[in-house]
Amino acid sequence: MVFSAVRSPVTVRVPAKVNLHLAVGGVRADGFHDLVTVFHAVSLFDEVAVAHSDEPGLEVHGEGVSEVPVDDTNLAWRAVDLLAKHSGRDPAVRVVLRKGIPVAGGMAGGSADAAGTLVALSALWRLDLSRDELSEMAAQLGSDVTFALHGGTALGTGRGERIVPVLSRHPLHWVIALARRGLSTPTVFGELDRLRGAAEPPDRPVEPVLTALAQGDPRALALSLGNDLQAAAVSLAPDLRRTLRAGVNAGALAGIVSGSGPTCAFLCPDAESAVEVAAELAGVGVCRTVRVAHGPVPGARVVDDSPQQ
Ligand code: ATP
Repeated sequence: MVFSAVRSPVTVRVPAKVNLHLAVGGVRADGFHDLVTVFHAVSLFDEVAVAHSDEPGLEVHGEGVSEVPVDDTNLAWRAVDLLAKHSGRDPAVRVVLRKGIPVAGGMAGGSADAAGTLVALSALWRLDLSRDELSEMAAQLGSDVTFALHGGTALGTGRGERIVPVLSRHPLHWVIALARRGLSTPTVFGELDRLRGAAEPPDRPVEPVLTALAQGDPRALALSLGNDLQAAAVSLAPDLRRTLRAGVNAGALAGIVSGSGPTCAFLCPDAESAVEVAAELAGVGVCRTVRVAHGPVPGARVVDDSPQQ
């Protein structure tokens, strides 16, 4: 039984992200890289359900769960601990994660679960926290957690935790190619450092992406998509070259590695062509599975039929 010895859960749906632009700067004194990124929330979702329980803990369902920890290293449980400390509550809750976001896929699934848990638990405990307070806690949990709270399309700076919304005029249509194996984010950053050696980070201006988004022109956006981590992800997983080529051959306007990879995201002209590209890509055998998605979508939100306490 999913919720044993629990009372009515609060359920939150929270999206995955792709980075339309990811410029990685030098390594900072704290070991993180300075980033300039454009986050874009797409319609692949995890669900986070929390409820009061006499058997506190975490359970995870869905694809890739064997790689997800169920102890206090899970980002969702770290969110429980943080909110419990912040509010002086006893964390006597059960958290159930249903993964629709690929694990270790470069789509910030763990961060999504942390954001979802913050929203679900503050509803369950009726904490009445402001978005600013939640954002502050999100930033403590991880670089991508703040964006998962807000969703939409946003410019991220710092480690990615400082975000401002970006005007994005029309929906964008994507095909998402999920890989057979994950890539570890720190390993991909390490590979980027190795490939760069002593060279200065390249100049990758964000303005063309912001202009294309404001115009709502997917063709202009396709020309300006860019990710500094892509070369490192491809270096560690060379098959990604074939995947990227296959999506464009299938009719996508452009393909990009999502964040640290290995998931690839293909921008399509419209919803119909995305379905066609997905069907063709699925037949080529260059990835584990494909999904059709759109963006931008909102960040972590309580699901309407979730009973309020
Ligand atoms: P990033 O946010 O760096 O892009 P990612 O999307 O590539 O991350 P995640 O799915 O967030 O990768 O998982 C990265 C690792 O974090 C996993 O291999 C797993 O060991 C650990 N992890 C901790 N909590 C979670 C969670 N709730 N869901 C998935 N993985 C988690």
